[in-house]
Amino acid sequence: MRAPGASLVPQLGLAESDRLQSVAFFLRMDALKSARGGDGRKLFAIPLERSSTERAWRDLDRMSFAQWLQQEGFTSVPLLWYINYACRDDFGTPLEHTSAWAGLFYFAARNPNPADCAAHSVLTWPEGNAWLAERLAAPLAAETQTGAVVTRVRNGRGGVEVDYWHVATQTARRVVAGAAILAIPRTLAARVVQDPNARINSEGFVYTPWAIANITLDRSPAGEGEALSWDNVIYNSPLLGYVVATHQRLEPARTETVLTYYWPLTHTTPAAARREAQQRSHDAWSEMFLSELLRIHPELRGQVRHIDVWIWGHGMIRPEPGFIWGDARQRAAQHQPPYFFAHSDLSGVSIFEEAYTRGVLSADAAVQFLTRAAHG
Ligand SMILES: Cc1cc2nc3c(=O)[nH]c(=O)nc-3n(C[C@H](O)[C@H](O)[C@H](O)COP(=O)(O)OP(=O)(O)OC[C@H]3O[C@@H](n4cnc5c(N)ncnc54)[C@H](O)[C@@H]3O)c2cc1C
Repeated sequence: MRAPGASLVPQLGLAESDRLQSVAFFLRMDALKSARGGDGRKLFAIPLERSSTERAWRDLDRMSFAQWLQQEGFTSVPLLWYINYACRDDFGTPLEHTSAWAGLFYFAARNPNPADCAAHSVLTWPEGNAWLAERLAAPLAAETQTGAVVTRVRNGRGGVEVDYWHVATQTARRVVAGAAILAIPRTLAARVVQDPNARINSEGFVYTPWAIANITLDRSPAGEGEALSWDNVIYNSPLLGYVVATHQRLEPARTETVLTYYWPLTHTTPAAARREAQQRSHDAWSEMFLSELLRIHPELRGQVRHIDVWIWGHGMIRPEPGFIWGDARQRAAQHQPPYFFAHSDLSGVSIFEEAYTRGVLSADAAVQFLTRAAHG
C-alpha cells in the first residue's frame, strides 16, 4: 500500500495532453486535501467518520470513481492506469468498482504537515504492519491468548460465553466475560455469534482475494532504466509489482534478497476469483509469479531459490459504490451490547488507521457498558 503521488504516473514518452491532465488531476486532489465542508470538517479525513457530512460530497459514494473521472474529463490513459493501480493497491478494487467518494478519499485524506515531511513520505518496516501490531500487543502479552480459534460466542446465564479451539493442546475451551469485542471480519462475526437476540449479518460486505508471493533470490534484480526501489510498480500488469523486503538492510556485501509480489485478484468477481485461487496448485501459482518476474527481469533466470505463495481469500473489504455511506455498513458498525465490533471492514476501507480507530471506539463503548453494568 503506497502513498498517493504523481511520481508513479508514467513520464517517458507522455503526450502533452496526458501531462496536462495529470497536472490538473493532482492540483485538484491537492485542493481537496485542505478543503472543508460547510460543517467545518475536512471533506476527506482519516478516520473516515470524521469527514464532512455534507450531502454533496457523501453522495459521491453512489457513483463509481470511473464515472466521476469520466464526468470530470479525466480520460488520459496513463493517468487512468495510475488511478486504477492506486485503487487496486489500497482497496483491492478497480476503478469501476470503487466508490467515487472512496477514490477521492484515497487521494485527499492523507494530508501530512508539509513542515514535517513531503506529501509522498511513507513509514515502512520490513515486516510491514506487524511492527506496529507487535508493539501495540506487547504491554498486554500476559493477558493475551493466541493460537485460539473462536468457534462460538453467545450470551449465557453467567455472561458472554466465548468457545474456542486451543490449537497447542488441541482442546476446546471457554472464556466467560462481561462483554466481547469482535475484532474479526464481519462475515466471521455473523457466523460465530450464535444468539437469537443479536442481529449480526454481513449484507453488503464484499472482499477481494489477494495472492502474495515471497520470492527468494540469489541476487538482487538489476536491469536497465530506473534503479531498484523499495517499491517497484509494473505498468499495465495485472500484478501491482513488488517490494524489496531487504531494501533497508545495511550490510552492503550481501546480494541475495526477497521480493514480495502483490496481486489483487480483480479480473473477475471476488467469489469466482476465490474459487480459482483455491483450485490452482502451488506449482501453478509459482509459475505465474515467475513468468511475470522473468518477463521484466530476464537476468534473474537461474537465480530463484524459493517461492512461497499465500492466498488471502478475503484480503480487503471492497468500497464498492454505495457501501461506505450506505445503510448496511452504518448499521453493522452499531454495537449490540454485550457484543462490540472492531474490524477495519466496518469502515469500508482496509487501512491500519481505521482498524486502530475501530478498536479504540469499541473498547471505549465496552468499558462504558461494563461500568454501567457494575453500578447496577
Ligand atoms: C496484501 C495486503 C496488503 C496490505 N497492506 C496494507 C498496508 O500497507 N497498510 C495498511 O494500513 N493496511 C494494509 N492492508 C490492510 C490490512 O489488512 C489492514 O489495515 C489491517 O490488517 C486491518 O486490521 P484489522 O484488525 O481490522 O483486521 P485483521 O488484520 O484482518 O485482523 C483480524 C484478526 O482476526 C483473526 N480471526 C478471524 N477469525 C477468528 C476466529 N474465529 N477466532 C480467532 N481469531 C480470528 C484473524 O486471524 C486476524 O488476525 C493490507 C492488506 C492486504 C491483504
